Amino acid sequence: MSERYRVTVDKEACDGIFACLVRDDRLVEADDGLAGFDPDEAVAVEQTADSVTATFEDDRRDEAESAARACPPNAISVEVLE
Ligand code: SF4
Repeated sequence: MSERYRVTVDKEACDGIFACLVRDDRLVEADDGLAGFDPDEAVAVEQTADSVTATFEDDRRDEAESAARACPPNAISVEVLE
């Protein structure tokens, strides 16, 4: 089922272990050595100084949830949008 949701990487918490990348291949290593998103896969990607957030509209939220569970410092959060 396609749904709209937002995935955020807290750059303060992310320590570049990259356990997330094998769970969800839309997550990539960014230029800063931390996790980011492949912009071609997302509806939008927003950067701030301490986080990066991608909005998706698809049926792959389970992959993002799996990446979030696999992240040792809990740097990834997933939020379903209305
Ligand atoms: S698993 Fe977590 S800490 Fe590691 S790169 Fe991914 S978001 Fe960052």
